[in-house]
Amino acid sequence: MIKHLGLKAYGKINLALDVLRKREDGYHEVRMIMQTVGIYDRIDLDVTQEPGIQVETNLFYLPNNENNLVHKAAKLLMDEFHVTKGISIRLRKFIPVAAGMAGGSSDAAAVLFGVNKMFGLGLSMEDLMKRGVKIGADVPYCIMRGTALSEGIGEKLTPLPPVPQCQVLIVKPGINVSTKFVYESLDAAHLKAEDHPDIDGMIAAIQKKDLYGMAARFGNVLETVTVKTYPVISEIKEKMIEAGAVNSCMSGSGPTVFGLFTNPKAAQNAYEKFRFDEWKGLAKQVYITNFYNNQEVLHGK
Ligand code: ATP
Repeated sequence: MIKHLGLKAYGKINLALDVLRKREDGYHEVRMIMQTVGIYDRIDLDVTQEPGIQVETNLFYLPNNENNLVHKAAKLLMDEFHVTKGISIRLRKFIPVAAGMAGGSSDAAAVLFGVNKMFGLGLSMEDLMKRGVKIGADVPYCIMRGTALSEGIGEKLTPLPPVPQCQVLIVKPGINVSTKFVYESLDAAHLKAEDHPDIDGMIAAIQKKDLYGMAARFGNVLETVTVKTYPVISEIKEKMIEAGAVNSCMSGSGPTVFGLFTNPKAAQNAYEKFRFDEWKGLAKQVYITNFYNNQEVLHGK
């Protein structure tokens, strides 16, 4: 048995997000191109002699009880496999919270991976993904990572070749957007053709390693809801283009916006404007990162 494990839980962006329809059970059927980025939370797992799950986080407003997704993930496996020892989970968040970057889902994915490994449960990645969807629709993808097409409610995953590397500027405005509100406000039956991103075109561009063709097809159908309610989202998108981004888009249900840059200097200038200078009022959190496709070290220390 492994007594301690240090894990990195990576965030994602949606290069494209489409909603096909609302199902009878209330879930939305989606089609999304997912991409892991190099911003991660750190998770330390320690086996304890006394049974139970203890959670500690660096953010006072996150739950440290059974409502934290890391707790749910550990409990799911430990109950199923009747693990008699306990576990302590120390979570340090760096992925913006409630931002459309699947931070909580990625933490849950890392804990599923870690608990399986520490207690030698012998589950395959596929087994973990099947269990992960019970915690959240994005959890299976967060176990798989890289570049992928996500369909169904997020559980049908098709890996895609890695996209060409470039700078990814990530800006989260100082507003909180409820995922539930965004999906409930989406009028999926009355969207215009141009509201839907060209997912098949994007897949073809990714297969050709055509960064510009891919970026030209960025699109997120949920912007039809969020941009109306929060104009700051389109302001950030416009500033990114003004700063030289190849293109920009909102991730998930927002409010995070990302922009791709092929010129590192332009990306750095834009970062500084959002972080310290004239566009500071639009941004609460700002990061420069890259796409993250290295499967080998994704879960390493
Ligand atoms: P998605 O992109 O999947 O919509 P998100 O970025 O919108 O995810 P998260 O950061 O994953 O949202 O978390 C949303 C809510 O879940 C938070 O308001 C928080 O209270 C709760 N939560 C539970 N566990 C966690 C966790 N480990 N990290 C972040 N949030 C968590």
